[in-house]
Parts: sequence; C-alpha cells; structure tokens
Amino acid sequence: MRNVQKITIGIVIVTLVILVWYHFHGNTKTYTITPDQFRYMNIDDSSKGGLSRSAINIKDGKAYLTCEVVNNSDYPWPYCELEISLSDSIFKGIDFSEYNQINLDIDYTTSHPNKRLRVYVRNSHPAYTRANERTSLKFNGIEYSPGFGDGATAIALETFQVLTWWISDNNISIEHASADFSNVPIIEIATASGVTEGKFEIVVNNIEFQGVWIDESTMLKGLLYTWLLLVMSFILYEQSKLHRRLRQSHLRAARLFALNQNLTEKNIQFSELANRDSLTGALNRHAVQDWLKDMAQQVRWGHQDFSTLFIDIDHFKSVNDKYGHQVGDDILREFVLVISSNIRSNDCLVRWGGEEFIVFFPETNSQQAMNRAETIRNIIATHQWCHNKSVTCSIGVAQMGQERITEMIARADDALYKAKGSGRNKVVFSPPPLQ
Ligand code: GH3
Ligand code: MG
Ligand code: MG
Repeated sequence: MRNVQKITIGIVIVTLVILVWYHFHGNTKTYTITPDQFRYMNIDDSSKGGLSRSAINIKDGKAYLTCEVVNNSDYPWPYCELEISLSDSIFKGIDFSEYNQINLDIDYTTSHPNKRLRVYVRNSHPAYTRANERTSLKFNGIEYSPGFGDGATAIALETFQVLTWWISDNNISIEHASADFSNVPIIEIATASGVTEGKFEIVVNNIEFQGVWIDESTMLKGLLYTWLLLVMSFILYEQSKLHRRLRQSHLRAARLFALNQNLTEKNIQFSELANRDSLTGALNRHAVQDWLKDMAQQVRWGHQDFSTLFIDIDHFKSVNDKYGHQVGDDILREFVLVISSNIRSNDCLVRWGGEEFIVFFPETNSQQAMNRAETIRNIIATHQWCHNKSVTCSIGVAQMGQERITEMIARADDALYKAKGSGRNKVVFSPPPLQ
C-alpha cells in the first residue's frame, strides 16, 4: 500500500509539473526570422523595365527599405519589395506547417494614401514549382496596414490566401489551391498593389512564426491515457506478484509437509526431550556423549571409519538483523528438517551451538564424508527458504584418526574456519592428524 501512495504522489507531482510547464512555456514555440540568419534583399520594378528605385540597409538586426516608386508607362505595376531568402534553393525551404500565426513588427512610412503592405509567404512543392521560375512558388498572401510604432501585428496563417491569378495562370489542381506553409524558401514584403508615385520606407523590426507544441486537449488526453496505462500496469503487476507469492507459499507448504512426513517415517521420538534442542528438535551434545564414546572405541580398534561435518550457517546474524529473530528461528528449524531428511537413519545431527551443527557419520570414510558434505551444502544453497531468500552454509570435514573425539571436532572446526575464510558456501577437508 505504501507503494501505491508513493506512485500516486509521484504521478500527481509529475502531472502538476507538466501543467505548470505547459501554462508558462509549453504552449508556444516561435521561429524568428532575422537578417543575421537570412539574406534580406531589395527588389523593385527597375529589373522589369520600370523606373522605381530602392535601397536596403541592415542595422541592429533591423532591415530598412527605402524606395521611390515612379510611374512609367512601360511597366504599369510599379512596386518595391523586401525579399527574405530562407534558402539557397527554391525547392527547399523551411517547414512552418506546425505554426499557426505570424507576428509582423513592421513600421511603414509613406506619403501615399494606400498605407497597406503585401506580405507573401512563398511555398515550394514539386507539383507546381519549376526550376528558375520564381513565379511558380505559391503565393500565400495577405495585405494589411502595419502603421508606425504600433509593435507587432499577429496574423493567423489561416487568413492567408493563395492569389487567384497564380492558381489560374499555373493551372493548379484543387488539392494544391489552398494555403500551404510546409516548404517556404522566400518571404516577400511589398508595397500594396496599385500604388502610384511616392516615397516609402519599410522598417522590418521583427518577424516571427508562432505555434503551439501541443494543443491543450491533446495534452490533457495524453495525460489521462498515461494515468490509465500506469494504473492498469500497476494493477496487473500487483496481481502477478500476488499469484507468484501464493504459488511459492503453496510449494513451500507442500515441501515442508513432505519433510515432516519423512521425519515421522524416520521415527524421531520427540518424547525424549531432554536429549533434544527445544528450538529445532535436533539432538543436543548431551544426547550423543555415550554414543560418541562407543564410536571412538570402534575406531580405535579399527572396526570402522567415522567422520564428522562441522556446519555453520553463513551470515546468519544478518538474517536476524534483516528479517527478525522469529524468522531466524524458523530458518534454524527448517535447516534441521532439511538436513535430517538428507542423512541416513544411523547418522547423527547435533545442534552444537547457536547456528552451528555437527553431523556424525558412522561407517563413512573421508571421501564419502566429503561427498555428503558437498551434497548437503548444495541442498541448503538451493532450498527455497521461508523468507524467500537463499541461505548458505560452510562445512568443515574430518575423518577420525587415532585421536580423541574432541580433537577430530576441533579439526573439523578448523576446516570450517578455512571454508569461511575462503568465501563461505564451501566445503573444506581437514587432513588426518600426524601419527
Ligand atoms: P558467519 O558467516 O561468519 O558465520 O556469520 P554469522 O553472522 O553467521 O556468524 P556470527 O557468529 O557473527 O553470528 C551468529 C548469529 O547467529 C548471531 C546470533 O544472533 C544468531 N543466533 C544464534 N542462535 C540463534 C537462535 O537460536 N535463534 C536466532 N534467531 N538466531 C541465533
Ligand atoms: Mg557461528
Ligand atoms: Mg554463521
């Protein structure tokens, strides 16, 4: 449940951050056209036989176009214009289709009564644009009055219209007849159509395209779907975790049941409690004293081999620290169950100290003892424990020579110490004592 709270708080914070970001920055993106970046040029009718004259001056990031329009019967449509080249090729321009408005900050001074300007955002498309024919670039155009010192005028791109003469002269199909800003190589700012003689000054302070990164309803829908997706994935994840846990605990219960069955079959008599360790039910030191004396006698007379394993659970302290003493106790019990059900009925498992155990193997030489030790080490390391984490143990192995039982146990303990020193989860053999 704590996870649910954390995730919910996390999602709420992320959502708030996105909304605040959207409010302040997210909803606008701009593309500014400046003389530093692009080529600004003056054009007038003199190239077409007219008499008008113009000059351009770029200063402090602004473009000043001065122009004198002169009437001339050889060219009936006198004009001046500022042309901004956004690209070196008329086939390759800038894509402004993601923007929805152009902000024009232009100051216009003229003595002429027509104080309007034409603005053309020219678009290129292979369907209609031909090499070396500038008129084949689509005319997305508007006319407006910029005034003087009035700041920027915001013009929605959807108010631009394609000039009808251009559509008919170029035989443009319906699908290409509407305004399009997806590939713009040129922007033109020109005196209004129908101007006559006069002086004009156009000062372009700033031109910028403005758009939204993502519109509000798309963003809110996106957030909603993300929330739903997260909640659904969380529910599915929790469900599969629950199933896994359930399966594991069933498996464990079945395994413990089998172990208990096995122990019962071995006829362990829990009535002889004095001989048993009360926590784990394993034999205690006292219980094996007499039996060990017998065994020592047999070995001394050469009647049989006798070996021992000194087993110590690795890092058991940290199991207690992490999962609590109760779980530590459960693991000790389970440890005894697991080892008991993997030794022969005449072998003896003794709880020697806290998490230290000794197994005595009658009729077992050192090689056999090593094999059994390795088997036990492996079973412990791969067993599924009640806390669902792995447990390992280190084992020292010794075969009894002409020595006392306590000496053999001390050798096994030394070997165990070496097993711990060599990285734990190891079996180390103690060589026989010198005769
Ligand atoms: P190492 O790998 O070196 O053996 O590390 P270790 O933590 O297992 O060894 P250490 O001797 O430092 O700690 C043994 C721990 O075993 C300390 C003690 O809290 C714990 N322990 C001993 N007897 C019991 C018991 O009856 N129940 C529980 N829960 N813990 C016990
Ligand atoms: Mg220990
Ligand atoms: Mg230990």
